Amino acid sequence: MNEPSEQSKKLMKYFFIALVVMTIINTIIIPAATRKKVTEVSYSQFKGFLAERQVSEVFIDTSENKIVFATGRGPGGLLYQTGMVNDPALIPMHEDANENYSAPIQEQTSLLTTFIVSWVLPILFFFLIGRLLSRQLQKHMGGGMSAMQLGKSNARIYVQNKTGITFEDVAGQEEAKEALKEVVDFLHTPKKYEEIGAQMPKGVLLVGPPGTGKTLLAKAIAGEAGVPFFSISGSEFVEMFVGMGAAKIRDLFKTAEEKAPCIVFIDEIDTIGKKRESTGIGGGNDEREQTLNQLLAEMDGFDSKKGVVLLAATNRPEILDPALTRPGRFDRRIPVELPDLQGRTDILKVHIKKVKTDPGIDLHHVAKAAAGTSGADLANIINEAALRAVRDNRKRVSQRDLEESIEVVLAGYEKKNAVLNEKEKLIVAYHEIGHALVAAKQKDSAPVHKITIIPRTSGALGFTMQVDEDERFLMSKEDLENKIATITGGRAAEEVVFKSITTGATNDIEKATQIARAMITRFGMSEEFGMVAFERDSNPYLGGQMVSTCSAETNAKIDKMTVDLVEEQYLKAKNILAENITKLHELAKNLYERETLTGEEFMEILNAPIKPAAITAE
Ligand code: ADP
Ligand code: MG
Ligand code: ZN
Repeated sequence: MNEPSEQSKKLMKYFFIALVVMTIINTIIIPAATRKKVTEVSYSQFKGFLAERQVSEVFIDTSENKIVFATGRGPGGLLYQTGMVNDPALIPMHEDANENYSAPIQEQTSLLTTFIVSWVLPILFFFLIGRLLSRQLQKHMGGGMSAMQLGKSNARIYVQNKTGITFEDVAGQEEAKEALKEVVDFLHTPKKYEEIGAQMPKGVLLVGPPGTGKTLLAKAIAGEAGVPFFSISGSEFVEMFVGMGAAKIRDLFKTAEEKAPCIVFIDEIDTIGKKRESTGIGGGNDEREQTLNQLLAEMDGFDSKKGVVLLAATNRPEILDPALTRPGRFDRRIPVELPDLQGRTDILKVHIKKVKTDPGIDLHHVAKAAAGTSGADLANIINEAALRAVRDNRKRVSQRDLEESIEVVLAGYEKKNAVLNEKEKLIVAYHEIGHALVAAKQKDSAPVHKITIIPRTSGALGFTMQVDEDERFLMSKEDLENKIATITGGRAAEEVVFKSITTGATNDIEKATQIARAMITRFGMSEEFGMVAFERDSNPYLGGQMVSTCSAETNAKIDKMTVDLVEEQYLKAKNILAENITKLHELAKNLYERETLTGEEFMEILNAPIKPAAITAE
């Protein structure tokens, strides 16, 4: 019934040790402790005892030529010994004294009691202590379900999830769902993938801010996949006995392989997957490191062909040990970002079903006011609204309840996270449209794929994603100049529209500078220097630093040329935006309201005939 698990092996070991201890106690310690002191007496004294009828037992030891006798009975009795004398009067005296003599009868009669006392009772004792210890262990390994599971079979330290949550319950997050559906599909019909020779990624990492539904997505997979789902949280590994973490991981993978196809989900993997510290100050956390090493080893050892998909979630991907995220480990990363306006509306729709509401609730309006919130916050808003209704003795949640509770939730939220205020949001919208518009108005630029002003996990306040139709290996001088223009387009839009500039372009400035400098120092694209390299990569495979190989004088020149090059493109970007100012306003307004624009939506607005109303906007 019970598979021989790590746990039962531990107990076996324990019992073995207990057995050894008992043997030592029984054969050495107890005899030594209970051996009565034997007093040496003379034969005449012995006869005196006999005469006084004090002797209860006599043992004649012919091999050692001595007589051992006891006075009194039970524990109060004393032991004596005396040398054997050939005394014919001895036997009648014994008979007369009416005591036992010759063989040590006492030993025979108490054989059973001795056995019970020295073997059965200790075994029972150690068994009980063993039980107690293993109970104690379970308590330490995190309570609740898992503890109960452990009690039943020593192997199940994780819960096989029967959540009944499906992808329907996860609103928005379409991209994440799409990617995860593929995983589910693989588990259902691995043949389809095998035939082509496709391999599933070994590990899928869900990355995103807290409360965006990572755990929820994992639970949904458990509901959708129809295969066993083993879930374990990184936090369960905290405060564990030494070696337990590693053992738990080993056990988890062993069970998973037996039960394949199945999914193993490690929530909050950052608690065990933190970067290992190089030895030195602090010494690191051995236990955690052991657990992580075990995880890495197990990941290398198992074969995704067998149908075990490893899923993990974290909101701190940057602190993960690089060994965890390298190819062959968690090599697929699925971003789970904060929801945009549409996403927020959808999430509200999911959660509003749980409460009774007034007719005609406008969730879109609520979603709009709740900019910057996560799915968890939105669920919280609905709950707060319901609580408010109860407080006022109403039977249904009103629109007002919802709107008031946004503030309650957001008030706590703003402390935790940077939430853009309206003005900032507008600036970011113009900034991103600036990038996109400059890109679209230049020849050969990669098409805009997606624009969003939802803050990213990376810390960017918004971003414009361009995707090339086909991969490009060669970039012409013009391409690079256009690229710089696109990068400067964000700042350019800020200046054109608001006549002021912000820190929002920090990253852009870095990138633009890098490209411009590389054009001069590495790509030989300046007229002044031509095909001369002034910099080279110290170690191209490891993304090493640039090593400069030029004189200070040349360096100053390069700096000046870099500045000029970027400046030129910045002017170009500003011109493009000024020429298309109507579209800039229209697009920015759309982005500001919807928070995300797809490439198609962007092009649609850009190519639509100019509406008279838009001209007067802003
Ligand atoms: P994470 O693991 O990313 O920190 P959770 O998955 O624990 O976040 O989300 C917490 C709660 O927030 C969920 O139980 C759910 O009620 C709500 N929630 C979060 N994202 C969504 C979403 N996309 N759709 C519906 N509910 C969501
Ligand atoms: Mg979570
Ligand atoms: Zn930018």
